[in-house]
Amino acid sequence: MHITLASSDIAAYPKAHNFLAIQQNLRAVRERITLACNRAGRDPATVRLLPVSKTIDESRIRLAYAAGCLEFGENKVQEFARKRQNMADLADLRWSVIGHLQTNKARLVAHFASEFQALDSLRVAEALDRRLQVEGRGLDVFVQVNTSGETSKYGLQPNDVPAFLRQLPAFSALRVRGLMTLAMLSADTPRVRRCFALLRMLRDRLRQDLPAGIGLNELSMGMSGDFEIAIEEGATVVRIGQAIFGARALPDSHYWPDSNTPQEDST
Ligand SMILES: *Cc1c(COP(=O)(O)O)cnc(C)c1O
Repeated sequence: MHITLASSDIAAYPKAHNFLAIQQNLRAVRERITLACNRAGRDPATVRLLPVSKTIDESRIRLAYAAGCLEFGENKVQEFARKRQNMADLADLRWSVIGHLQTNKARLVAHFASEFQALDSLRVAEALDRRLQVEGRGLDVFVQVNTSGETSKYGLQPNDVPAFLRQLPAFSALRVRGLMTLAMLSADTPRVRRCFALLRMLRDRLRQDLPAGIGLNELSMGMSGDFEIAIEEGATVVRIGQAIFGARALPDSHYWPDSNTPQEDST
């Protein structure tokens, strides 16, 4: 029987510094995705693995590319733009920005990203759409929802999502694909599961009465520590870094503001 990793099992992510180690980790992750799908009675082809390359240097990202990864998720816009520039020789590589965006960096996302998963305000929607219209591009976006109730997490409150979605058809360059969330970082599996279930129920409810042009087929949820639970709850995209590349040296508080850090858009 397979054992679900708790997010506290950070020691369970050995560093992968060469091609074979990364390839092996990728295989293991894909195998675990398949097993979770089997348990849930789902087709593994309905779950997309988005490898997350934040903090990983370009040489190791290239190894993952050689092992078959054609897209990567990055949390910070500056880091993403630098890597994208340095790896522009890989023409079929796609980048997904999965972290909070400040409007003054919307240009970089509009120009270089193929997907943005952390849409959480009309200001950002407006800034992205304006830049995209200039460039004549479209961008796949996910609306980020705060399902854990933690004030430290970005994302809309679930109750605010319906009204937010109704505004989005005005931004015609944004192709709304689905919802995204970060579950509570906890070894308490039922609480983690509740976050994922909440996102799925919200999606199912919203799908019954969607504004024109808005799609909500995708659910981006699940990371190295909890992706099997997310798949059991309906994830169609899992964002996985450490289980592929090994444990990160930087603490996650570097990427997710801790509860003492005031948020940019909070009132
Ligand atoms: C870092 C990150 C992930 C991946 O986390 P891992 O523990 O490396 O799997 C997923 N989603 C977001 C938004 C992240 O910032």
